[in-house]
Amino acid sequence: MSTDAQIDRAVELLRQARHAVALTGAGISTPSGIPDYRSPKSGLWEKAADMMEVASIYAFRHNPQAFYDWLRPLLRVILDARPNPAHYALAQLEATGCLKAVITQNIDLLHERAGSQNLYEVHGHLREVVCPACHYTLPAADLMDEFMARGTIPRCIRCHHIMKPNVVLFGELLPWATMKAAQMHARAADLVIVAGSSLEVAPAGDLPELALDNGARLVIINFMETHLDHRADIIIRADVADVLPQLARPFLPSRPETGSATDRITLGAIGKISSSGDVRMGE
Ligand SMILES: [Zn+2]
Repeated sequence: MSTDAQIDRAVELLRQARHAVALTGAGISTPSGIPDYRSPKSGLWEKAADMMEVASIYAFRHNPQAFYDWLRPLLRVILDARPNPAHYALAQLEATGCLKAVITQNIDLLHERAGSQNLYEVHGHLREVVCPACHYTLPAADLMDEFMARGTIPRCIRCHHIMKPNVVLFGELLPWATMKAAQMHARAADLVIVAGSSLEVAPAGDLPELALDNGARLVIINFMETHLDHRADIIIRADVADVLPQLARPFLPSRPETGSATDRITLGAIGKISSSGDVRMGE
């Protein structure tokens, strides 16, 4: 079956769904130029002989400088990246009410910048830095800019401990409340759209099973195989930045009119971006 025919089938499932949820992974951000840093093929892995040596909570405690040295090139790429049509398509589907939530394994904030509102970042995010000692939390933007410009590692203003981006490192637990809410959406879902995730990283990668066990349909858009392919209704091996806009198009109002739903969607998608000066729409 052709990719177009598969997308048509996915559109039909989305039309029938009452509680559709998307689960996204690194593959939705690679079209934005962010490499999958868990992939051995990315230069980010090769530079660190063993990622566990730098990107784990144990390594962070032992040698935060090595962690920040490793983070620096990745951070540069993420700060320069922009949402791509796949991010915008999910935000648009949410704005039309077709999609109830986006659960993401990504820390790059691109879903938020594209306008997604009901967003669960189960591996944390680069929006904040947190003190591992006293849990004091601060917005990350200025501190990360300072780090990129001068190499200044952020320190806690309460206890002077080195602060950590509020992302989940190897060896750390996932944020409890976020994961709980993500599980709730997975259990309530009658359709899960996996976009750009190989579902390899547990427990987020196991979320579709909660939905499947309740009878949900499953659409997987991913280049690589996943452990749930045999339970998927539709598998699309193509770029999410091509597929998701096609999937969203039938649900979007065709003609913008004053005060129409299109205006609201556009504003919703742009609203959170304008502060960073990025007002480009994916479509
Ligand atoms: Zn502190």
